[in-house]
Amino acid sequence: MQQHINIRGLVIREVDFGDQDRYITVLTDSGVKIEVLCRGIRRKGARLAAAVRLFCYAELTLYEGRGKYTLNDAALLSSFWDVTQDIEAYALCCYFAELASLMSDSDEPLPAVTRLMLYALRALCDKKRPLPLVKAAFELRLLAEAGFAPQLEACGACGGEPAPPMFSIQEGTAVCAACARRLGGAWTALSGGTFAAMRHILASGLPKVFSFSLGEPSAGQLGALCEGYTLYHTERGFASLDFYHSLFQPAMVVPKRGKGAGGGEGRTDGQNR
Ligand SMILES: [Zn+2]
Repeated sequence: MQQHINIRGLVIREVDFGDQDRYITVLTDSGVKIEVLCRGIRRKGARLAAAVRLFCYAELTLYEGRGKYTLNDAALLSSFWDVTQDIEAYALCCYFAELASLMSDSDEPLPAVTRLMLYALRALCDKKRPLPLVKAAFELRLLAEAGFAPQLEACGACGGEPAPPMFSIQEGTAVCAACARRLGGAWTALSGGTFAAMRHILASGLPKVFSFSLGEPSAGQLGALCEGYTLYHTERGFASLDFYHSLFQPAMVVPKRGKGAGGGEGRTDGQNR
């Protein structure tokens, strides 16, 4: 039996189908991922075309039948289509969409993923934050929301303050320098700025996740660690990430143990610290 449903959602993928149709992948407000068939949407002058473009957030009226969704009506709420005008920001959005899609499914709602994606798109459209910082913050917070949060509040071994902080992508925890020496293995000495930024990204309210600044070399260290953390814990690569790196940002190398310390140049401008 078919039924009518109304949802709000963000289009994160489009796949053309047939001569005039298109499938869109939508992250809904309630945090699930659905596929929606948009019949005739590629016809010239199609009434709903502008509301269901890539990176548009819209109110959708759908027919649901046997777990399949067909678009019936749509009203645009916010368009982030502008990001497609800047190739680097566009490449980053495609990577964010691929990551968010991987972390979402049709059964287990993760509303924070949809909200994080909307705030990331807003940050990229506003152009106030350096893209590598937006990227790092999105990666780390997304992984955390999906159940892969690293432990940074206390030393993962002795439970004390992790000072100076040492971090392991594989272990997913910070430890104090004494425990790192005792445990052995690959630990990266975090700069004060990197450590503060990572704590901010994980602990701040979603609207403030991208509200921080960070100078070099900490920004480079943060970028390398967040990307490394994402690739390690998702256990895969991303074509969209390779494309992003091929454009402007060379792939980052995770700093060796003992390098990149110092810092303290991190700053957050929210009230969530
Ligand atoms: Zn310790």
